[in-house]
Amino acid sequence: MENTLLRLENISVRFDGEPILNNIDLDIKDKEFVTLLGPSGCGKTTTLRIIGGFVTPDSGSVYFNGKLMNDVPAYRRPVNTIFQKYALFPHLNVYENVAFGLRIKKCPEKEIRETVNRMLSIVNLNGFNKRSVTSLSGGQQQRVAIARALAVSPKLLLLDEPLGALDLKLRKDMQVELKNIQQRMGITFIYVTHDQEEALSMSDTVVVMDNGNIQQIGTPLDIYNEPKNAFVADFIGESNILDGVMREDYCVTFAGHTFKCLDKGFGVNEPVDVVVRPEDLDVVPKEQGMLVGEVTSVTFKGVHFEIIVDIRGFKWMIQTTDYYPVGSTIGLTMTPDDIHIMKKSEYSGKFGDYSSYSDELDELSENKEAEE
Ligand code: ATP
Repeated sequence: MENTLLRLENISVRFDGEPILNNIDLDIKDKEFVTLLGPSGCGKTTTLRIIGGFVTPDSGSVYFNGKLMNDVPAYRRPVNTIFQKYALFPHLNVYENVAFGLRIKKCPEKEIRETVNRMLSIVNLNGFNKRSVTSLSGGQQQRVAIARALAVSPKLLLLDEPLGALDLKLRKDMQVELKNIQQRMGITFIYVTHDQEEALSMSDTVVVMDNGNIQQIGTPLDIYNEPKNAFVADFIGESNILDGVMREDYCVTFAGHTFKCLDKGFGVNEPVDVVVRPEDLDVVPKEQGMLVGEVTSVTFKGVHFEIIVDIRGFKWMIQTTDYYPVGSTIGLTMTPDDIHIMKKSEYSGKFGDYSSYSDELDELSENKEAEE
């Protein structure tokens, strides 16, 4: 690929005999903002650690600018890392924390002063030079960590859930700030998160991972609009995912009805997974509905209502600004571009019906336990 800065080729890793990454192939361009997104334990951090040189893969190659890096130690790679726990030096003030890498490189004092001041200005910490890092808020400490990482001019910055410890409001502000810094400095960022909204709003490219495999690589819009399989559709945003059958090109049957769609290239009568996003469904009087069902739950979400509708035993989620009470019968319509067809996969049948909120909660608490 043109402008490729980093290439991972056929990377596999096992820990204690367990496969953790399976044949990962990934090309990252110069100045690209790439996010590795996936549930806890899917292998995001391990991928980052392989790029940083902290983990040696069992097989496969890591290239920077076309040069094989497998045997180059971490400190020799043109890479710097920011972790969720900022790991600042508590005995050094803000200035000295940012200057740290430059002093190790034995840069002249004048250059250190200019660089540190420029970095502190980039992260909006002018005037904080003498402050003790332990007296700073979480957001300010994270900015010091960013300034410290950027000061040594890495070609590539690895960020492992760097905003995970911040509260929601601050996290949103820092997302915008990080994206600005990345664009202004023209550095390639590889960013790890399990927060899909964060991934979609910041990245040029999102790499969705599960179970040590890359499930899809694409722009945020591609990933959202054209998920490759039921896992990606479920992980990115809310999705109604149904079993369907492609009748022929541009024609699919699901939920007991045949619809026009924009997809082609499937076999005649090939079983498929069908995704319809909750915000794409329109509610109409039942006589006009392509599908008709009964409202079983309504939740007010601030801007819209989240409504669960039972259609032939399958619970659909709809987002609408109009209110429909529990027990009412409503019609639903959709247009061909609201219907997304996916190949059947190992994830088929595992996601997509909103009768089982409690299952999703179980899954969340399991993940939480795994993290603890
Ligand atoms: P999280 O979001 O929770 O950090 P992740 O996607 O970054 O998850 P990794 O940290 O890459 O996941 O871990 C992937 C799997 O490898 C997990 O099951 C983890 O327990 C396991 N693992 C990671 N490091 C080691 C190690 N040094 N020894 C044994 N197993 C490990």
